[in-house]
Amino acid sequence: MAKKDTIRVPIEYMKSTLRKKKKTYVTFLRGITHRKVRGLDSLAKALHIQAFEKIDCLECANCCKTMSPTYKKADVHRIAKYLGMSYQEYFNKYLYFDETGDIMNKNVPCQFLKKDNKCSIYEVRPKDCSGFPHTQLKDFKLFVAGTHLQNIEYCPATLYVVERMHQILLDKGKKRTVTADDAKL
Ligand code: SF4
Ligand code: SF4
Repeated sequence: MAKKDTIRVPIEYMKSTLRKKKKTYVTFLRGITHRKVRGLDSLAKALHIQAFEKIDCLECANCCKTMSPTYKKADVHRIAKYLGMSYQEYFNKYLYFDETGDIMNKNVPCQFLKKDNKCSIYEVRPKDCSGFPHTQLKDFKLFVAGTHLQNIEYCPATLYVVERMHQILLDKGKKRTVTADDAKL
């Protein structure tokens, strides 16, 4: 049985929220990079944990279906070894360099995504996958432009973090200090 307040269909939550509030959250994210808010990283981390209590990635898998992870060479070595392939065999079959020189998947959805939304190489998946959507990383603001602004349109958990952060800061009014406890309100 679904837990109380669980977001049961994450993609629907994301689509309907973006239809109503995309402009608000894009403006909020752009603005937050210039605002001084003490404790923002602690709040972001608490909201990140909360997002994954409410959203089950196995009910979503939108990242694996619509985006490519960025591979480090160490990822390619590790996964190729796991699959019994050489680095070059694996690269030629599944990867390419994009225009910025990043190593990306040729296939979207990812070749390792199974029908039940599980990852068939879960133990050795790229670090970019295990760390996704990066809302837990120290210095939330640093990742707004290159990561969170994009991911609110792909990842329901990112959107949840941003939606709650926006509401909490709105409720705080002119106060410029937040804590992890604010996530509970
Ligand atoms: S490697 Fe696994 S976690 Fe990463 S995109 Fe592919 S299916 Fe998803
Ligand atoms: S990380 Fe985000 S996009 Fe990926 S499965 Fe979880 S909620 Fe969906």
